[in-house]
Amino acid sequence: MNRDYASFLGAKRPLSLQINDLSALFCGAKSVVYTSIKNAEDEKMIKELCEAFRFDIRELRKFRDIAGNETMDILIGKDRKKMEKAASAYLNGRPHEWGVWLDYPQCCVEFYGKWEKEKKESLVKKIAEASRKNRFFDFRMNNVLNFYSRISSEKLRNEHKKFLEINAHLFRLGLDFEPVLPWHPCSYNCRKSLEAAETIFDFMEKQIPQTAEKRKRLLSLPVIFKDDFEWFVLKGKSVKNAAGFFVKADGIAPPLSLADKKYFEKAARLSASKDLAFFKKEGYILLPFN
Ligand SMILES: [Zn+2]
Repeated sequence: MNRDYASFLGAKRPLSLQINDLSALFCGAKSVVYTSIKNAEDEKMIKELCEAFRFDIRELRKFRDIAGNETMDILIGKDRKKMEKAASAYLNGRPHEWGVWLDYPQCCVEFYGKWEKEKKESLVKKIAEASRKNRFFDFRMNNVLNFYSRISSEKLRNEHKKFLEINAHLFRLGLDFEPVLPWHPCSYNCRKSLEAAETIFDFMEKQIPQTAEKRKRLLSLPVIFKDDFEWFVLKGKSVKNAAGFFVKADGIAPPLSLADKKYFEKAARLSASKDLAFFKKEGYILLPFN
């Protein structure tokens, strides 16, 4: 069997398949992965990948995406039984339930299901509230830039589009904002998610060290967060003392959100607990990734 993981995570990777998902499939953290085929090139690469690693393909549904292109949703994986269960949940409109068949931890699937019913606030805020206070959050759990399954309203879809537009130059340069964990955790301390994220990241470090290192650098930065497209990734560090966290920042790291421009300067120089108090009053919370 072909064990050339690195080239399938690089040049031979089907573009619709995320690096974290494929790494998870390779290292066994997941046995089924959801992806799509958007064109003949995708199809060819998916087939090559599945032949090389003896993955099965399960077609789900054909539809037209926002740009009007024909797209086929598929599952690929090693566990045919789970793939059938996932397909059945997907095709019968039980969207959050299928997470279990995609190997997301039960606790995280249930948490997501509850949030999905209410949707009172951003999923990220809900996860932060469920997390242990006064603890750093492991960078492998950072899902601030994982918009998948978080965007449901027309307003959010428009904001997402705008976010991609204002950062298009960065994406063209190949800047990589993908998270490590392929799903949303039930808290930033969820043990099962953390274990999986560690397994996936260890594998990435071994197979694609440069990508892993770049990702770690970005995902370890502190974030002040208000809403799905209102946040600042701070060039700096969260520091903990007896009174709690404060941040020493020296600028804003890319990508840019749609947060109000009037806060940029202040966020870029954030350095004292009174600065943090200012942002808290404005509805921001600190996500102390590290
Ligand atoms: Zn969990």
